[in-house]
Amino acid sequence: MESNIIKNYVAVIGGSVSGSQAAYILAEKGYRVVVFEMNNLPYGKIEDGLPKWHVNLRDKQEQNIDQKLAHPNIYFVPKAKIGRDIEFDDLINEWGFSIIIFANGAWKDRALPIEGIDKFVNNGLVYQNTLLYWYNHKHEPDYKGIRFELKDKTIVIGGGLSSLDVMKLGMIELVQKALKKEKGIAIDLFTFEKKGIAKILNEIGLTLKDLNLYGMTLVYRRNATDMPLKSPKDNTEESIKKAREVSDKLLHKYAENFLFHFIPLSSPIDKIEEEGRLKGIVFQKNEIINGKLQAKKDDTFVLETAMLISSIGSLPEMINGLPYQNSLLKMVGKNGYQVDGFPNVFAIGNAVTGKGNIRESKKHGVLMTNKIIDDHIQTSDFFEEWLSVYNEGIEDDVKDQVCEIENEILAKNSIPEPVFQNISNKTKAYQEKVGYDNYQDWIQSKVPVRLENMK
Ligand SMILES: Cc1cc2nc3c(=O)[nH]c(=O)nc-3n(C[C@H](O)[C@H](O)[C@H](O)COP(=O)(O)OP(=O)(O)OC[C@H]3O[C@@H](n4cnc5c(N)ncnc54)[C@H](O)[C@@H]3O)c2cc1C
Repeated sequence: MESNIIKNYVAVIGGSVSGSQAAYILAEKGYRVVVFEMNNLPYGKIEDGLPKWHVNLRDKQEQNIDQKLAHPNIYFVPKAKIGRDIEFDDLINEWGFSIIIFANGAWKDRALPIEGIDKFVNNGLVYQNTLLYWYNHKHEPDYKGIRFELKDKTIVIGGGLSSLDVMKLGMIELVQKALKKEKGIAIDLFTFEKKGIAKILNEIGLTLKDLNLYGMTLVYRRNATDMPLKSPKDNTEESIKKAREVSDKLLHKYAENFLFHFIPLSSPIDKIEEEGRLKGIVFQKNEIINGKLQAKKDDTFVLETAMLISSIGSLPEMINGLPYQNSLLKMVGKNGYQVDGFPNVFAIGNAVTGKGNIRESKKHGVLMTNKIIDDHIQTSDFFEEWLSVYNEGIEDDVKDQVCEIENEILAKNSIPEPVFQNISNKTKAYQEKVGYDNYQDWIQSKVPVRLENMK
């Protein structure tokens, strides 16, 4: 019977920065890992978020993910979205994973708080995740997604690093097109990004006005110093002050180089429409009293625009069966990594907070995965808890087999052979369904045409 007791199967949801990190650590320790990825490629925000001018960063990170996911103990399942193609409850009850780790990032844009504005979604109002997907992929010959045309006087609501990328890409789009149309001058995106719009226009002796452009406007509810563009080194007053000064400088440097307008201390409160089209946005002025944001009730103004971009942050997409609190996964304890109510379900990376960067996501992946191994999977009572969860939904014939070898499961800290086989079979069936054979071939056939190779 001993040979029937083998190591554990871990499900990792999402194969990007944090997911590949977790999967690799587990695989190296000898666990079998199934990585479920909703897309063809496991690159998440690296491929569909980070604007496409970050060629070196993108390639380096994607190679890093590939090296990890190609591990022989990792079974990659593309085009499998948990909550759509496979229910979360099924992962627990029908598949029987020892551990489930959510590394699914944050793909739901925070809703813009203007009543009724969503009727303009993708037709006046564009949310950041959709915008960036279009921007990164629109050059691909087989791109079939929604297309946008950036408009002059576009308003962007936001204040984080991603909003600055949105300003940059929007202004480059506008100026690149206008230069070509008005003056017959073609300059590629990478040159614009590297040099900045101000420098390029200056060199050819032109202004935005010469191109019949006003430019885009970034509106933020607080001041530039309050923008989370630079994290303080520590919690000392001096570090916080320094980080605030850097944020202020960064914002103004971006605005200077990419020629956009900035309006601080203002929040959108209403929309103006004309004949069914977005015509403008009503803003309310704010003030900061003792560090707290307060609306100046009667102080409002209107900005006319036919295009509004919401860049106010992302949240994890809700998955049926998981607990949520304030739109985030409900975790055990402050800064927790264990999902409330489930002894064997965890979350890492952007999926926990909705924000972060590559370094933070990786670091969180490493720290939490090691904790999952040391403080959970390797502890003596872990499989007792696993059995109680698994037994709830398990089919009777498998349950009988599990009960028969229960003592051995508990003694060996591993899942029983029938469950192991069940997971192997289901994984293989899924891979076959989407035509997946091996990691390298799959990735090679799915990586899209790169803009830099089209020049
Ligand atoms: C505009 C922009 C610019 C940025 N610039 C930088 C930068 O310059 N430097 C930096 O360090 N960071 C930057 N970031 C942030 C960085 O890209 C992310 O913090 C990091 O990639 C997050 O990694 P993650 O693994 O936590 O999440 P993600 O990259 O979001 O990965 C989640 C994965 O899960 C998959 N998934 C989601 N839901 C499901 C599901 N239900 N079932 C199966 N799979 C699912 C997704 O397809 C994805 O592959 C930027 C982000 C944006 C949006």
